[in-house]
Amino acid sequence: MSIEIIPVGGFSEIGRNCVAIKVDDEIVILDMGLHLENYINHTEGAEFDDITDMSEKILIDVDAVPNIRVLDKLKKNVVGIFISHAHLDHVGAVPFLAKNFKCPVYGTPFTIQVLKALIRDNKVNFKNKLVAKKQNSRFKISKNIEIEFLSVTHSTPQTVIIVVHTKYGSIAYANDVKLDDNPMIGEKTNLKRLKKLKIKALFLNCLYSTTPGHTDSESVPANELKHFFLDNNHNKKNMFLTTFSSQIARIKTVKELAIKMGRKPVFLGRSLAKYTCAAQDVKLADFSDVKIVKYSSKVKKFLSTLPNPEKCLFIVTGNQGEPNATLSKIVYENYFDFKRGDIVIFSCTVIPVQENVENRSRLEQALKSKGVNVYKDIHASGHARQEDHKTFLRLIKPEYVLPLHGDRHRMRKMKEIAVNEGINKDKILMLRNNERISIN
Ligand SMILES: [Zn+2]
Repeated sequence: MSIEIIPVGGFSEIGRNCVAIKVDDEIVILDMGLHLENYINHTEGAEFDDITDMSEKILIDVDAVPNIRVLDKLKKNVVGIFISHAHLDHVGAVPFLAKNFKCPVYGTPFTIQVLKALIRDNKVNFKNKLVAKKQNSRFKISKNIEIEFLSVTHSTPQTVIIVVHTKYGSIAYANDVKLDDNPMIGEKTNLKRLKKLKIKALFLNCLYSTTPGHTDSESVPANELKHFFLDNNHNKKNMFLTTFSSQIARIKTVKELAIKMGRKPVFLGRSLAKYTCAAQDVKLADFSDVKIVKYSSKVKKFLSTLPNPEKCLFIVTGNQGEPNATLSKIVYENYFDFKRGDIVIFSCTVIPVQENVENRSRLEQALKSKGVNVYKDIHASGHARQEDHKTFLRLIKPEYVLPLHGDRHRMRKMKEIAVNEGINKDKILMLRNNERISIN
């Protein structure tokens, strides 16, 4: 008797996270995400934090979603789908694929709220039951399996490490995690419980396994933004800021700073409306005093008829320079009459993909040619670095380590770190998609 791991997506690659864990004749699926590059390349008009409806067959064929065909013969055995957090590379394929499995989809309240918005906005015919479970709760799924959602910090709220408890041992799925003592919103990482649990196998995100040091706390960009706004609010400049729409802590910080500066906070763009409304719905943040304009078609009219734009702070979608997002439209289609010295802040990093790099560079050039001052990289990542990985390994002391969310180079670096932390090298499993493995 043993546990079988079926890596479906996100192993030896970055994106479309999905793993199935088979315990006797029952299966749980952890995450069901999009491969964002492949998805955006095959979708007209996509914004970075949003989806549009497409056929399952096409999405699988272009590797934009996990290839769940590998589970064809096991569909009936799936007892639950569990989502670690609200980022699209973890939740974005649920609206397209969950219908293949006759079981509920579980997540924390914020994750489920975002998922509901994705389903609603895309008019997906969705039949699976959606179940919200709080962070740090433990619940029984079937006769053999219990699930525990442990709070962990990341760059979107209510992220969890999913622990699958079975009679053969417990598996912890720590995909997309950081260690932040001051996350600005929500719970800290439940280190106490992590230390107490006896974990047989640990899935650990290796995206930044090549980067030394610790990842900055979210309080670092929050402070930088505070000082930036204090220094730059003395004149009648128009101010725009763009960040990831799922980065609710940052958006909340900026909204509060806008009010302190005496400016009206304004959110422009579809995905920003989606994520901030979800946060408001589950009472994570209060955005009731914000003016929200969701659709680009209305943004133009809104901006062109606004009497005192210099009394606002505009938070807009399009931080990667995506041509169809709101910021690009504002710039390229002249939705707004920028004046010399106006300010645009990119509170994000450029995700290092050729297309993003080119889009961003073009957008920054266009802004500068209008005399706009561009500020960038006021940001903290949501992903653990080497020293954080070591802390997780020391706390959890798993028997097996399974690196995920990285290419082979990043996985090898994670193996090196784990070996140095005393993990048996034969028990560090470097899987590729559909390379099934049993652990005893
Ligand atoms: Zn994430």
